[in-house]
Amino acid sequence: MRLKNQRRSQVVPSKVRRESEVVNSKLKTQNSKLQKLVPLLLDWFVANARDLPWRRTRDPYAIWVSEIMLQQTQVKTVIPFWNRWMSELPTIKAAAEAPSAKIHKLWEGLGYYTRVRNLQQAARQIVAKSRRRGNKPKTGNKLATPHLVAGKFPENFDGVLALPGIGRYTAGAICSIAFNQAVPILDGNVIRVLTRIFGIAENPKEKPTNARLWQLAEELVCRAKHAEDEQNKTPSRPARPACERHACSFLNQSLMELGALVCSPRNPQCQICPVKKLCVAFRENRVEELPNLGKREAATARRFIAFVAERNGRFLVRQRPAGVVNAHLWEFPNVEVGTRLGGSQQVIAKFNALRVTDPRSEELMPLCTVKHSITRYRITLEAFAVSLENSPEKTNGIWKTPAQMRQLAFASAHKKLASIAANCMLSGR
Ligand code: SF4
Repeated sequence: MRLKNQRRSQVVPSKVRRESEVVNSKLKTQNSKLQKLVPLLLDWFVANARDLPWRRTRDPYAIWVSEIMLQQTQVKTVIPFWNRWMSELPTIKAAAEAPSAKIHKLWEGLGYYTRVRNLQQAARQIVAKSRRRGNKPKTGNKLATPHLVAGKFPENFDGVLALPGIGRYTAGAICSIAFNQAVPILDGNVIRVLTRIFGIAENPKEKPTNARLWQLAEELVCRAKHAEDEQNKTPSRPARPACERHACSFLNQSLMELGALVCSPRNPQCQICPVKKLCVAFRENRVEELPNLGKREAATARRFIAFVAERNGRFLVRQRPAGVVNAHLWEFPNVEVGTRLGGSQQVIAKFNALRVTDPRSEELMPLCTVKHSITRYRITLEAFAVSLENSPEKTNGIWKTPAQMRQLAFASAHKKLASIAANCMLSGR
């Protein structure tokens, strides 16, 4: 009995020791890999980074605007929007003071309009703080944001994170790119790159895996900072251009850029990848499997009908109220219908319910069908045109000429309708 117990007590520690040896060896391998990744990523970024307009500045406001626009939107789409925004509203003050119609018009076509309203709200908080500084701050003002200083964009992570519409990723991106601070970023591109390099098979949306990815991203940016500090301590060392003053900024951007240009979701270009020798997914032929994002939510079909009513060269349009999707944007009167709509009588009933007018069935003319997607919704918008002699008694909207409509910010599908409607009118159809 004693012998048995003795044997058990010998077995357990050796098992624990083995496990801890395995953990230590894994950590050692990971550390060495992180150490090797940093110079590879930095050098690759210096040689391959795209020349994007917001990369020519360190102005945190300009970088902030680019980061907000880039959420859910591709770089090539964002460039003209960013250029236009920065030329119309070049400062935080200008963004804070711009009329709502203007910021919506500048954002028209980018979608996800809550982004632009949050951006303006944040700009107003920064400017309000500055005004209060100038005029002696009022105590007890709920608008006061503790980290804001004299109208300047906040320079610390918590201050940036406290602004409306800014989450951990965006705060990290702004602080690292504008101020070269060692704070991590983790977006879709970075998740893809890290899960592949480290062969992480678990779903990155799950909490422990997500935390691990943030930690890896943090390790990388901190090591880049360390390399920069070492470089600065010993200026006699051969200089690495990326390590001189921008290591954190470049490291974070290198992860995003690698995900965008090389380590793409489909057909990644592993043969030209700077980190392929360290990449587990490449070595184990698991590139297509990673990241493991689980099952996608099924797409849902939705169908709307819209009415393009024209009278004396003007069209009936209305503005969407606050608090709904595409709030404050303009549109033609429309209504959601089942995916199968009946005949013309049903269309007319919908038309009348909207109080657009009181048409006879033969006056309605199919105009066009616009298909588009918002998140998981696949939307079909069928438009019917009607030409009126007289204005209906009660109209739910405003009559605008094509030139006036061009001044308004329309939801994307309705912008297409506006242009088709104006062309039809010009061609006398
Ligand atoms: Fe991505 Fe391939 Fe590079 Fe690995 S080797 S990081 S999978 S591009």
